[in-house]
Amino acid sequence: MENCKVIAITNQKGGVGKTTTTVNLGVGLVTAGKKVLLVDADPQGSLTVSLGVKNPDALDVSLSSLMQSVMEDERLSGNAIIKHKEGVDLLPSNIELSGIETGLFNVMSREYVFKNAIEGMKQNYDYILIDCMPSLGMMTINALTAADKVMIPVQAEFLATKGMTQLLQTIGNVRRHTNPKLEIDGILITLADNRKPALTSEISNMIRENFGKYIRVYDQSIPDGAAASKASGVGKSVYAFEAKSKVADAYRKLTKEVISHGEGRLEAEHTRSI
Ligand code: ADP
Ligand code: MG
Repeated sequence: MENCKVIAITNQKGGVGKTTTTVNLGVGLVTAGKKVLLVDADPQGSLTVSLGVKNPDALDVSLSSLMQSVMEDERLSGNAIIKHKEGVDLLPSNIELSGIETGLFNVMSREYVFKNAIEGMKQNYDYILIDCMPSLGMMTINALTAADKVMIPVQAEFLATKGMTQLLQTIGNVRRHTNPKLEIDGILITLADNRKPALTSEISNMIRENFGKYIRVYDQSIPDGAAASKASGVGKSVYAFEAKSKVADAYRKLTKEVISHGEGRLEAEHTRSI
């Protein structure tokens, strides 16, 4: 698509809901009529497993093969993309990706390998969501270099913002060196305890105070709900698993918010160009 938006879902902390958000925002966007590719950029392959691939290590072709082909300047033989029942496409990963990440240190333009790997796919999608690994290493730098926007899930707890300074520094470095157009779309508060609504708003305020009013916190936060983990256990989104759950409802609303950000920006760009 001419206007494909690439969103990296990033936080170097594990267990904050990156993978869950990738799946449910992805399927939410499909339901809204968008064409969506989800990329597993974590050698643990959690996104791949969450979408029902039982044994990612047995896959012949994956993101690793695609990145390898870019590094060797060869065409990839075989199709790495897997189609999911709920309409999202998946570019899967497995443990081989950690070898690829290590190998990146010795190649030219090492920050751009992933960007080059997905470049040709942009024409087929409205959105590409990248589920990043829990580190700020070379694979995450590659994802940020390829992205238009970053979404930062943080867990609703008092230490939520610990590590955020480092993440924002990394985003700043990527902007300076490899991707000047990179924007932060927003911070998403996840795993919010419904019994403590005040905590969620307190954390939003804390983020705004610490990181400036220019960093948006999404209006919609994601509640803690069993449907989220149970759904990924059976390879489904929360909508297919339990359409009426609070988590499903929250991801539906988040999807609308993300779409409206994108459209708002388009309009602004259009207005400026007249
Ligand atoms: P990350 O990708 O950041 O490591 P995950 O999306 O894998 O985080 O989530 C970490 C764990 O929390 C997983 O077991 C997942 O099923 C569970 N989880 C994620 N979001 C929710 C939620 N909203 N409610 C309950 N459990 C959740
Ligand atoms: Mg994950």
